[in-house]
Amino acid sequence: MKGEWGGAWPDAGSGRHWHEECGVFGAWGCDHAAQLTYYALYALQHRGQESAGIATLDGGEMFHHRGLGLVAEVFGPDDLERLAGKAAVGHVRYSTTGANKLVNAQPMVFDVHGGPLALGHNGNLVNAGVLRRELEGQGSIFQSTSDTEVVAHLIARHRGGSLVDAIEDSLRTVQGAYAFVFLTPDGLVAARDPQGLRPMALGRFGSGWVVASETCAFDTIGAEFVRDIEPGELLVIDAGGVRPVRFAEAARKALCTFEYIYFARPDSDIDGRNVHLVRKAMGKRLAEEAPTEADVVIGVPDSSISAAVGYAEAAGIPYEMGLIKNKYIGRTFIQPSQALRERGVRLKLNAVRKVVEGKRVVMVDDSIVRGTTSRRIVQMLRDAGAREVHVRISSPPVRFPCYYGIDTSAREELLAARLSVEEMTRAIGADSLAFLSEDGMLQALGAGPEAAGRGPGGPGDTFCNACFHGRYPTRLYDDLGKHVMEMAAHRGGYS
Ligand code: AMP
Ligand code: SF4
Repeated sequence: MKGEWGGAWPDAGSGRHWHEECGVFGAWGCDHAAQLTYYALYALQHRGQESAGIATLDGGEMFHHRGLGLVAEVFGPDDLERLAGKAAVGHVRYSTTGANKLVNAQPMVFDVHGGPLALGHNGNLVNAGVLRRELEGQGSIFQSTSDTEVVAHLIARHRGGSLVDAIEDSLRTVQGAYAFVFLTPDGLVAARDPQGLRPMALGRFGSGWVVASETCAFDTIGAEFVRDIEPGELLVIDAGGVRPVRFAEAARKALCTFEYIYFARPDSDIDGRNVHLVRKAMGKRLAEEAPTEADVVIGVPDSSISAAVGYAEAAGIPYEMGLIKNKYIGRTFIQPSQALRERGVRLKLNAVRKVVEGKRVVMVDDSIVRGTTSRRIVQMLRDAGAREVHVRISSPPVRFPCYYGIDTSAREELLAARLSVEEMTRAIGADSLAFLSEDGMLQALGAGPEAAGRGPGGPGDTFCNACFHGRYPTRLYDDLGKHVMEMAAHRGGYS
């Protein structure tokens, strides 16, 4: 259905989105479920640092605790003690709009159908704005600005059938990217969106079950990976075991490539691929596509180290630790004043002078969004005596915004949306700059050379690459709920 796919429409809904990069976890039938969830959230901390929360269920009663900050800041021993029960859901959240308020922290807990319901969401719903407007028109009162609450209201208004039926129907109504965990008095429910944009996996913990955004959470708690949850699949986990329900047919599988490029932890496997190895393969391809004469290859810590190692190996140039990151800078850290910054106060990242001095350096980073990081690091390397700085980016240029929960900025802020590669090279002050091609990226993902994602049902229909080419795998809506692909129909649709 061509209309489903539409053409590029980079400005859809630009006035109002809720960027939410998050991590979710759920446990059922596990002793000390709250503690288990706490450790799992620790492993998922990279997916969100602004708020954390856990809800547990004990004898039909729901307990929950949420707060702003890192997992370690939000929970004390007493909080975990209070969170009784053998079932839990947990959430870490990162918000980039002004919506970093406690009301938006998750899991959200509601009373629906005469019982408690906790829900946690990773992703972004593209039709949340119009659904919210409709629900408000029908009398729903929202407590938060988060799109997740729309799902709670849809479930609450559902009539007839079980709570699981209500969850299923609500998921058929929302569109976009999600990994959801729901905790109900009868069971744990986990669901992944029909395109599989956001990852989620199922694991075994003793005689109990766990679900998580990333498999690194399973390794951390000693759970055994069972399988990835399928796009459009919902798992009902209760006393009877795990019951899979297909609530939607996947029109096209479209796992977010940015999970591999930047977002996920290198020790996680997503849909059968290890994140570190994919990044390394991207670096290798980049070296083949954009070689350069140099003395040393360095990576921007932490997310680009794997790609830098791959580049170095393929290019036959030594990999070195040329940049060191201070790992102890939290979100609440007091930024140095402009005056101190101008005097050279650099707290987050420092160059290793003895490694780069007098050298021709290849600096590998995973992406350029606004260009700020690259510009600063190029300058830092020059200040530390680097003779030449060649920037190599292990993903294609990001030219379009993401509507599925990864914060890649509004279009006008994206450096690659405004400038050519030559202009970007000057803007970041590098001697040369090159990006991985889209085909190269897909090959590194093992998708095959033909897999350029050119159309529904084609061989490349495995990943979302919309931020690179602007062809989005779902419908997009403007703030009034108008289907922007209809407005964009004259653009010729999917090519
Ligand atoms: P920028 O400085 O805006 O060009 O951002 C690029 C840098 O931010 C790179 O070093 C990436 O590792 C990192 N990055 C990429 N995507 C994201 C994201 N969604 N959230 C936070 N940082 C990111
Ligand atoms: Fe991921 Fe980009 Fe697609 Fe967003 S648009 S889901 S960042 S690939």
